[in-house]
Amino acid sequence: MIDPRRSRERMVKDQIEARGVSDPAVLEAMRAVPRHKFVESALAAKAYSDSPMPIGEGQTISQPYIVALMSEVLQVRPGMKVLEIGTGSGYQAAILAHMGAEVHTVERIRKLFFTARKRFADMRLFSIRPKLDDGTLGWPEESPYDRIIVTAGGPQVPQPLLDQLADPGRLVIPVGDSRRRQRLVLVTKQDGKVEEQDLGDVAFVDLVGSHGW
Ligand code: SAH
Repeated sequence: MIDPRRSRERMVKDQIEARGVSDPAVLEAMRAVPRHKFVESALAAKAYSDSPMPIGEGQTISQPYIVALMSEVLQVRPGMKVLEIGTGSGYQAAILAHMGAEVHTVERIRKLFFTARKRFADMRLFSIRPKLDDGTLGWPEESPYDRIIVTAGGPQVPQPLLDQLADPGRLVIPVGDSRRRQRLVLVTKQDGKVEEQDLGDVAFVDLVGSHGW
């Protein structure tokens, strides 16, 4: 039997703090959210290892460090409205909700959407609103968003997401012209000016849709 609390402590210390993530709200969320409940029970014992994991339908939950890094660069503060594209297991959304965000999350695969929605209800994560749709179109009715996080890799930053980002706002997305290998890009909007910053190499599953692959 694993002790999930101890496993999380170790995960945060060895995988996340050791690589330079220091935002206390991120570290606290990573210590608190039970990652093993976001994967199939047969894989639960491996949930705190330093790697991505399969979640079915050919999709993966990101490595813990990548979840922490993306959450940190977003600079999420309590009460912020956040849009996530690629709900997957729901783990990243749960981390953002634990940080006090009001999370809107969009998934295009029906089975993953229903599983995640049930998880949010079972775990009483009422500040997460899930939607089944093509997330490259955003969720215009609920915009603007203080923060946007895309957890699948596409050929470019989808224009609808840029349009739905508040000013000031921050958006993080893996972008690359080869599939399965991308640059993690941080987009900031301030006083009408949009700037991009390269945060390094990552490997995400495909962002599929009107403004994706
Ligand atoms: N954030 C997730 C990991 C997501 S894996 C977690 O914490 O578990 C990437 C997810 O993005 C997959 O579930 C995939 O189906 C979804 N996806 C890909 N393209 C999408 C699109 N256009 N709209 C919504 N979801 C999309």
